[in-house]
Amino acid sequence: MKKHGCRTWLGLLCDEADGKKTPRLRAHLPDCPPCRAMLASLKRTVAVLKSAPLGGKPTSSLKNALRRRLRRSSRLAVACL
Ligand SMILES: [Zn+2]
Repeated sequence: MKKHGCRTWLGLLCDEADGKKTPRLRAHLPDCPPCRAMLASLKRTVAVLKSAPLGGKPTSSLKNALRRRLRRSSRLAVACL
């Protein structure tokens, strides 16, 4: 697998899972199964977090929760570093 530093994509993965448009990430995803797996996992996480009573809009606490979760599932990222 090509080494391309998926760590640099983590922020964009968070944004994409959060519903933002991330054209650079979308161009990258077809070539990177680990990033796709990570995104799918993040989207599930976001769905759970948004269904929790946090007050609706994405908040910094949501992002922090996502980043904590990312670190826990970082073996996915490590797979394509
Ligand atoms: Zn990647």
